[in-house]
Amino acid sequence: MYDFIVIGSGYGGLSIATLLSNIGLSILILESHTNIGGCASFFKRKDFLFDVGATTLSGIKKNQPLGKLFNILDLKPKLKKMNIGMIVYKSNGEKVIRYSQKEKWIQECEKKFYDTLANYKGFWNEVYKIENLAWDLIDKNNNLPPRCLKDFINLSSVNNLKFINLLSGLFFPLKKLLDKYNIKNQDFINFIDNQLIISTQNNYLNSPYLTSCMGLAYPSEIYYPYGGINSTLELLLNKFKSNGGNIKLKQEVISIKRKKDFYLVKTKNKSYVSKGIISNIPIWNMKNITEGQIKKYFENISYKFDKAPGAFTIYFAVENKFNIESCYYQIHTDEKIPFCTSNSFFVSFSMDDDYYKAPKGYRTITISTHTDVEEWQNLDKKDYISKKCLIESFIMQNLYKVFPEMKNLEKLYFLSGTPKTFEFFTKRYKGFVGGIPHSIDNNFLLLLPSNVTSFENLYLVGDTVFPGQGIPAVVQGSLNVLYHIEKNFK
Ligand SMILES: Cc1cc2nc3c(=O)[nH]c(=O)nc-3n(C[C@H](O)[C@H](O)[C@H](O)COP(=O)(O)OP(=O)(O)OC[C@H]3O[C@@H](n4cnc5c(N)ncnc54)[C@H](O)[C@@H]3O)c2cc1C
Repeated sequence: MYDFIVIGSGYGGLSIATLLSNIGLSILILESHTNIGGCASFFKRKDFLFDVGATTLSGIKKNQPLGKLFNILDLKPKLKKMNIGMIVYKSNGEKVIRYSQKEKWIQECEKKFYDTLANYKGFWNEVYKIENLAWDLIDKNNNLPPRCLKDFINLSSVNNLKFINLLSGLFFPLKKLLDKYNIKNQDFINFIDNQLIISTQNNYLNSPYLTSCMGLAYPSEIYYPYGGINSTLELLLNKFKSNGGNIKLKQEVISIKRKKDFYLVKTKNKSYVSKGIISNIPIWNMKNITEGQIKKYFENISYKFDKAPGAFTIYFAVENKFNIESCYYQIHTDEKIPFCTSNSFFVSFSMDDDYYKAPKGYRTITISTHTDVEEWQNLDKKDYISKKCLIESFIMQNLYKVFPEMKNLEKLYFLSGTPKTFEFFTKRYKGFVGGIPHSIDNNFLLLLPSNVTSFENLYLVGDTVFPGQGIPAVVQGSLNVLYHIEKNFK
């Protein structure tokens, strides 16, 4: 019998599986797809490798989740810190450079969003201060969110007093901070909303200012992963296997049953038993493969957090006959992208010398934007294809405005993906990706489903549980689970 079966091998599943194998526990990972990685996976076409979703890593500093993960496991991924985190093209064609260095970025902001009344310097200094403090809080408190009186008592300890000011950042939207620094410039607010959509999947009126600050500071710490976003997962997998861990691909879990003192896990053709379960699959999926009280629990939380965004993605390779100043661009459009929920899209280029992703003289490109999953339900093939074509053409026309040289270059392996594609390959319910958006109304951060459940040895990791979306948050969830298992597992 295994100590734990981990269901899914996304960043959540592989990080907790490797951490647990590293402390000597026997672990089996069951993954439904032919590859590891989920939303941070890849696909190959001849000599070209395409990231399917996530393309950037962050949270690498010593006190941040990936920094801690690499340190504990002694992993040394090949990453390049971007001096220019991202380049933003506003819809009027104006370029805004998100320098990673704070002072340089503030100067750029003051120049590009000139407004004598706005105190941009004060605003950004506070954004970075809150971000630092928030990482510190997370680093020092592995038992967040508090679930019982003891957790609340621990949280209110003297050591945590310095974090008290962060509390209001959970209840008030980013607008409060913008007002504090007299920022009313609509052009800037539009810019901020487009930055927030990448990290908090919400806008300045609804996104809590604590998580907004973490999202807004993200371009100061963007790392390009050589060999693709999956390369770090490959390192984790090697470590996991060298620790004696076992992984089975093409094994979709279709049922989890709690027996007297163990769990029985079934895939289409096999059964496995373990003392504990760690789910790396979305909460909505869990309600369909569990029974009894456990099923009820997932039904309740799925009902409470019933919505997440979908993604529309485009992939292709081109000859490297145009200049890029960063691997990451956000391009704003005059109007909403058809059938999408955003006025912008995110473009990720492979690095010139990343020959693992593209041969010399070529780049691979992944483009992503947000769409409502309902747009893609119950379509016949003709309507589905015609919707896809309209979006592809809109995005490519806007891309050519920024990179006119690209227009006449041949696009190799051009493909696009919708929520249906993500649902098919990752099994995520309805193709909901990116996790539950943080919001001041119902999706209050500390109320997100905890990594620890009240069922014996049943833990949750991934972007639909605390602390939420993005790879650093997902890895933090795994560190929280490690903390609890080290304390409680017998
Ligand atoms: C387009 C896009 C761009 C993004 N960009 C970034 C970015 O640049 N940086 C960043 O930090 N984050 C980014 N994100 C978010 C990030 O990719 C995700 O939050 C993160 O990868 C989620 O990891 P996870 O472990 O929670 O889940 P997943 O990646 O969904 O992994 C779950 C795994 O479980 C498997 N599975 C599902 N059901 C079963 C079953 N029944 N049995 C067995 N296995 C099962 C799936 O196949 C999958 O491998 C992006 C997301 C998208 C969609």
